[in-house]
Amino acid sequence: MLTLALLTLPLLSVASIHSRHQHDHAHNIAKRLPSPQWYHEPDHPVHELFRRGAPTDGVTYAAVGSDGWSAPYPPGPPASPDVKLLPAAWVAALNDAIARKAIPDIPLSTNVSDGGSPVYPSGSDPNSPQICSATYQCRIDGDIWDAADGYVGLSFDDGPEAGTASLLDFLDQQKQQVTHFMIGSNIIYQPDDFLNAFNRGDDIAVHTWTHPHMTTQSNLQVLGELGWTIQIIHNSTGGRVPKFWRPPYGDSDARTRAIAKEVFGLTTIIWNQDTSDWSLDESPPGTTADKIKASMQQWLTGPKSPGLIILEHELTNDSVASFVAAYPVMKSNGWNVVSLAQLVGNNASYQNSASNSGPVIAADVLGAKSIVASSSAPTTSPSGAANSGSNANSNNSLVSAL
Ligand SMILES: [Zn+2]
Repeated sequence: MLTLALLTLPLLSVASIHSRHQHDHAHNIAKRLPSPQWYHEPDHPVHELFRRGAPTDGVTYAAVGSDGWSAPYPPGPPASPDVKLLPAAWVAALNDAIARKAIPDIPLSTNVSDGGSPVYPSGSDPNSPQICSATYQCRIDGDIWDAADGYVGLSFDDGPEAGTASLLDFLDQQKQQVTHFMIGSNIIYQPDDFLNAFNRGDDIAVHTWTHPHMTTQSNLQVLGELGWTIQIIHNSTGGRVPKFWRPPYGDSDARTRAIAKEVFGLTTIIWNQDTSDWSLDESPPGTTADKIKASMQQWLTGPKSPGLIILEHELTNDSVASFVAAYPVMKSNGWNVVSLAQLVGNNASYQNSASNSGPVIAADVLGAKSIVASSSAPTTSPSGAANSGSNANSNNSLVSAL
């Protein structure tokens, strides 16, 4: 029962913050959760961590971009979120997963050189089944590296960032939707770009709070990097819980992907082709527009099996320009060009709602496995607590004692 009480704390604090700032309507969420879709695994612990009922989740969220909206979150990089300030419910869920032996007890890696790959202690094989590091190209069953044959699954990392506005402009022209693996702390700084991406129907996924090499992070640090990013997406999209995350630098292993899956229900997505477009604006540049063009030409005129998941970024106008240049090549070579999360999520890019962008492939697979009727969903929602919002001091409840 103690755990149950603590589980309500993050929502309580959000509701109370809103009660003090509910006239800050500088921003609006155009799309609310549709009803009655609620179709992630009903017994998954994420249900308890990010609750919602139906037809909405019963919570009035602070307006995106308002002071009350941004107040509950930890600072951005370079410091990673303080593990002493993690909501107790997340920590309890992690401890439960550890007790179930669902989180492998393996060594952390360390960053030995700037820009290099993290390394494990001597005697630990990163390609062993126990560790299976994606940095070392070890693939774990259930993680996603490839798209379906004939498809390009579009995604962009690191937003919202300097290239987001130009990317969205182009996507609007093309009537094209994509997945954004967003950095949680960046959403704080660019709420308008975040909302523009969401409101146009793009899929929002997790790219951590401060963008570390995740295999270097302790279990609690991994919890914070993922949890805070899920929380801000949840609180900024009318209650959606993202379904996918991409580890920064593609650095994940058996431990970090297990925390993502077992605590938060997140599936790990890597990629099978890398443009290195992040390095276009480095000094000196790591790659050039011409090199990316040549790579794209090769990939897009090559075999269509497997389909392509190409690592691209919305970091700068230059990285976006490389995508803009490649887009007609994707189309002219007969690829099906779709949002990555829609493609690999069987039309469901969130764990608890239909897509906010409409059907991309086939609508009939939507929620086929475990739709729970809307009438039963509120049993998981502490609606009384969530709606009360009367305790102005409950903001402190986010600072949970460990
Ligand atoms: Zn990144």
